Amino acid sequence: MESRARQVLELYGYQEVRTPLIEDSAVFTRSLGSAEEIVTKQMYLFQDRGGREVALRPEGTASVVRALIERGLDKTGGLTRLYYLGPMFRAERPQAGRRRQFHQLGVEVFGSASPYQDAEVLALLTRLLREAGAGAAVLKINNIGCRQDRPEMVKRLKEYFKGHLDHLCQECKLRLEKNPLRIFDCKQERCRSIAHESNKPSQWACGGCREHFDKARQALDLLGIPYEVDHQIVRGLDYYTRTVFEAVHEGLGAQNAIGAGGRYDDLVGQMGGEPVPAVGFALGLERILMAQEQEAKVSVSSAKRPQVFVATVSPAEIPKGLALAEALREKGIACVNNVDDRPLKRQLEQAEKWGCVLVAIQGEAERSKKVVTVKQMAARAQTEVPEDQWVEKVKELLAG
Ligand SMILES: [Zn+2]
Ligand SMILES: [Zn+2]
Repeated sequence: MESRARQVLELYGYQEVRTPLIEDSAVFTRSLGSAEEIVTKQMYLFQDRGGREVALRPEGTASVVRALIERGLDKTGGLTRLYYLGPMFRAERPQAGRRRQFHQLGVEVFGSASPYQDAEVLALLTRLLREAGAGAAVLKINNIGCRQDRPEMVKRLKEYFKGHLDHLCQECKLRLEKNPLRIFDCKQERCRSIAHESNKPSQWACGGCREHFDKARQALDLLGIPYEVDHQIVRGLDYYTRTVFEAVHEGLGAQNAIGAGGRYDDLVGQMGGEPVPAVGFALGLERILMAQEQEAKVSVSSAKRPQVFVATVSPAEIPKGLALAEALREKGIACVNNVDDRPLKRQLEQAEKWGCVLVAIQGEAERSKKVVTVKQMAARAQTEVPEDQWVEKVKELLAG
């Protein structure tokens, strides 16, 4: 899955960035806002030996922005397109599709405020999911406006939710004070239905934000990318602006988001860099694997298998077998070789198990004739090939 993803990312001109697993905890608390649940309840925070407050990274965006600023890439005025792939950590109760160490693939584009950049990022997300065998995921998008729109939005939503205070869960009562937009993220049925009945947050977006969203949608339509506008998608993290989105997959049950993201035009500036507009998303790899199983179109173990097995007739010949295998690898042919004192019959069984197409052997008899025996497993046929031509012959047989 990862190697396929890398191929897709290269098609779009993204470069990999690797950030440390442990960082100064302020990198995350500043970007996420210390009131966020992810910080208060889920982050692994501790002091290192120097008494520094550090955290295991709970998500990728904050680290990437920190690295961007540190490298001065926010000052180039150009477009920076980065991706990351690796483990993240959250101290939550493990359940299906949720682990304390999980893996994310994320994409971040810095330097463009264009709605068409949003559309391109969504095209990439759609292609990644399709290539990973999770193409049945549904893309849900929404417009949550800019920083200027937020005070009015928060004020109106507070008024509305206060009218339903008795029916909100304990957590949402806290969210109401800190950031009422987060109530839309609540998984409790009662909170969800109250949020559903509320006014759409997007109606308080300014003209510029509305135009941005319309243009992004027009581009998605032109590209033939299916999506739904869902007013409940707000991505409660403080740093999101304008376009926000989630990809959800029916096969995953209640926690059905497989990936999510959005535009975050203020974060780089807030973290001390130039005010560079940005957009990105993260996909949960374990979630994608679960969706894959649901769709059952792609075999989970699609890793390349060795095609050739180099067998040996006697233990003394094992080093010569190693040399034969190296000769194949020199030409880019994947193979495995016998290294143990095992009868030939057992070796052939092993080759069959691994799905090897060919078996190569050069015992005493072959060596005196300067040939290599090449067995075709499926046809149960074998030929003797002159030893200066055997690698070419193997190539030929594999191609045929
Ligand atoms: Zn706006
Ligand atoms: Zn709630």
